[in-house]
Amino acid sequence: MKQWQCTICKYIHKGENPPEKCPVCGADKSKFIEINKSPIPETPSAKEKIAIKPESDNSGKKEVLKSSPAIKKTGFKKIESLLVTHHAHPVSVHTPNGILPAAVILFLLAWIFDYDLLSRVAFINLIFVIIALPFVIFTGFLEWKNKYNGALTIIFKLKILAATITLVSCVISLVWFLIDPGILSSSKAWVFILINIIMLIAAGIAGHIGGKLVFKD
Ligand SMILES: [Zn+2]
Repeated sequence: MKQWQCTICKYIHKGENPPEKCPVCGADKSKFIEINKSPIPETPSAKEKIAIKPESDNSGKKEVLKSSPAIKKTGFKKIESLLVTHHAHPVSVHTPNGILPAAVILFLLAWIFDYDLLSRVAFINLIFVIIALPFVIFTGFLEWKNKYNGALTIIFKLKILAATITLVSCVISLVWFLIDPGILSSSKAWVFILINIIMLIAAGIAGHIGGKLVFKD
């Protein structure tokens, strides 16, 4: 049986023909190549990817410069390479993903039981989320650019959208609570809670897509 590999996410399909669409990243069948004889090398190492020359256009033609002693990576490029090879994105994402649900649950409990202290604790939790988010988004961007060549199939668009919604709703919650710490006792409390639930769902979707890309199932 023939084997076909998605050049975007490296998913492997077995069959006579490639699938119409990649079930993992949504790339169309033109992105699949037969790999029976020559599998795509495992995700190019960040070290090699970082050495890719900037593209002059979007034709996809790239000249990969193999790392050689002559190419000296310095400063930011070196940090970028270290972050990608050491999986800084999945590592860092655990921080906000752990705290964010706690914050939302605490806001919800504070609202239901009209318990002011809980909402303050939730607010403090959200501060830690917003501190972690820029780093998470930055490392996610590096991973997308280096591992997936900045591909814009449906799965990546969804992930970017989910991350943006998470960030925006987190900022709205924080600013709103800062302006009106008594929001959960007001008639607009349900809007505030709704924004928090949207934030939780968006973070969950971003995480789910990340898992799909990593585990390919
Ligand atoms: Zn794919």
